[in-house]
Amino acid sequence: MNVIMKFGGTSVQDAEAMTRVINIVRKQWADNPTSRPPVVVVSAMSKVTDRLVETGRLAAERKGNDATQIIGDLLTRHLGVAASLVQGPALDELQAQLRADFTALQGDVRKWADAGEVTPAAADALQAMGELASSRMVAAAFRQQGVDAAWVDSRQVLVTDAEHSAAVPDIEATTERCQAIVAPKTAAGQVPVMGGFIGATADGVTTTLGRGGSDYSAAIFGACLDVDEIQIWTDVDGMLTADPRVVPSPVLVPELSFDEASELAYFGAKVLHPSTILPAVAKNIPVRILNSRRPEVKGTMITARGRGDGHTLTALACKRGVTVIDITSSRMLMAFGFLRRLFEVFERFKTPVDVVTTSEVSVSVTVDNTRRLDDIISNLRNFAEVSTEADMAIVCIVGENLRSDPALFARAVTSLNGIPLRLVSQAASRRNITFVLKDADVVDAMNKLHDQFFGVKAGA
Ligand code: ASP
Ligand code: MG
Repeated sequence: MNVIMKFGGTSVQDAEAMTRVINIVRKQWADNPTSRPPVVVVSAMSKVTDRLVETGRLAAERKGNDATQIIGDLLTRHLGVAASLVQGPALDELQAQLRADFTALQGDVRKWADAGEVTPAAADALQAMGELASSRMVAAAFRQQGVDAAWVDSRQVLVTDAEHSAAVPDIEATTERCQAIVAPKTAAGQVPVMGGFIGATADGVTTTLGRGGSDYSAAIFGACLDVDEIQIWTDVDGMLTADPRVVPSPVLVPELSFDEASELAYFGAKVLHPSTILPAVAKNIPVRILNSRRPEVKGTMITARGRGDGHTLTALACKRGVTVIDITSSRMLMAFGFLRRLFEVFERFKTPVDVVTTSEVSVSVTVDNTRRLDDIISNLRNFAEVSTEADMAIVCIVGENLRSDPALFARAVTSLNGIPLRLVSQAASRRNITFVLKDADVVDAMNKLHDQFFGVKAGA
């Protein structure tokens, strides 16, 4: 099984974490001896990108000393970690490289600060330093541990447009570069080590994919190299069946579909942003979330189709502190154009609505952003009667199985027995159902549902 293994900022935060990375990669390869070696993608060490962003801000404010000071501090941190990972001439070489890169950057930062301007291209060049440095260090650490690894400059592989800080990959060009630069290394038995988040235009100008973009890099490389699995190594076990702040002991979701993951992300499950792994899922490559501190835990697998069998839900989600707005047509019937006028009001005040339910004469919507609520209400009152109810919550049950097994909905409603439901709505996709209820009831509701579907006695 050929794999991409991506390690996030906390998974490479120091020498100890990087050593865990080496052991995890070594085990993956040892367990799959007939496969090609894994391709490793790393983020910047934790907090480094934040500090580089801050450097750019200071430079734009002409605070050259403060800005260059940060680069100096970052160099010191990297040299220290390098020294505890690598020895002898290899350490000299690595440290000389880090010194050269950071010192050159320091010179650039000084120039930008003198000019009081950091262009979008300059900001990307600045932020790229984090992944360039971490990937060089991890590659050297592998070799120190006797693993034949090769540092690969991602800027020569990931080809993007020139939209700085939100660059869009050119998949065709990147596939060619992957075949020309990365594949020969794995074919020769080397572990390629690459920085995530960064790329370059076809002309070689450094770009970045946007904050948190290393997952995206891993998915792009995975799709272009057509690997069998993409592993996203992070500092949590995977996706959980519910938010642990609401349900005391949620369990790990072993496998879910890309669409289920997107529904859950909408409700704030933030292990990874599903859209960033789309290039992989679109090619049917499974993406597995794993914990680099507890590599023995199976993690969560995201696939195009999910499990879609069995007779249970995939996960629960909730959103607290929402407001329900009931809007009744003043003419006591759904006049032609009523819905259009109604949603135009929300559009005008840039307020997204979450759940929408309709009856013959009225529409109910929920919003969680009440900043413009007074304006919205007064505009709606031009053509409708309006009432609102604050301190409500949305509870969402998610599962591809909801499409095929109507008993799941019945079980959910039965388990909520006694809790007043204000609204109920099934998504068009039919993979989720939302209940709107009083915020005061949300903990009770979530726990009842969780016991029913994921508790010890769930019998699912
Ligand atoms: N280092 C980048 C960031 O912090 C990219 C990433 O970690 O995914 O946003
Ligand atoms: Mg990160």
